[in-house]
Amino acid sequence: MRVGVVALQGDVSEHVSALRGVGAEPVEVRRRDDIEGVDGAVIPGGESTTISSLLFDRGLDAELVEMAESGTPIWGTCAGMILLASEGRGDVERTGQHMLGLLDASVERNAFGRQRESFQAPVEFDGFDEPFEAVFIRAPAYTEVGGGVEVLSEFGGGVVAARDGPILATAFHPELVDDERVHEYFASMVDG
Ligand code: GLN
Repeated sequence: MRVGVVALQGDVSEHVSALRGVGAEPVEVRRRDDIEGVDGAVIPGGESTTISSLLFDRGLDAELVEMAESGTPIWGTCAGMILLASEGRGDVERTGQHMLGLLDASVERNAFGRQRESFQAPVEFDGFDEPFEAVFIRAPAYTEVGGGVEVLSEFGGGVVAARDGPILATAFHPELVDDERVHEYFASMVDG
C-alpha cells in the first residue's frame, strides 16, 4: 500500500514514520510525477496558505482532485483539513487561499483562539473504545458540515474529525502522538 505524503511544508517526516508504523509505504510528493500510482495521500499540518500556494503552483491540486474523484482516499490533518474544505470562514475568506473543496464543510482557521494556540485533550473518536489524546496546534474546526459528511469527533463546539466518502480530515495531529489508531483507520480506508 503506497501512500503519498504531500511534502511541500509542515510535519511530513512524522506522517512518513507513522505510516510506516501501520505497514504502509510512504512516498514523499513534491511534484506531479511523485503522486502517480499511489493508493492514498496525506496532506500534513503546517501553514495552510503556504501549502496551498505551493500545491496549486505545482499542479498537485488537479492530481488530488482527480484521485478523490476516482475514490482514492485522501487524509488532511490540520492545515490539510483546511485545504480539503469546500468553504472557508474568517481568516480563510480574508486570505483568499485556494481550497481543494473535496469535503463538504465550512472551515474556520485557528478555531480555538489565540490564547489556546496549542494544547492536548482527550477526544472521543467514532469507533474507538478509548478517547484519543489529541494534539491541537493552532487548529481549525469545521463549523458546519454537509448532509453526507460523517462526524467522527467533536470538541469545543466544533467538528475536529470528519469523513466524506474517501476523504478524511482531522484538526489535530495523530502523527505527533504514540497512538497509531487514526493512521490505522486511514490505512483501512486505503486497504478497503
Ligand atoms: N493554523 C494553521 C493554518 O491555518 C494550521 C496549523 C497546523 O497545521 N498545525 O494553516
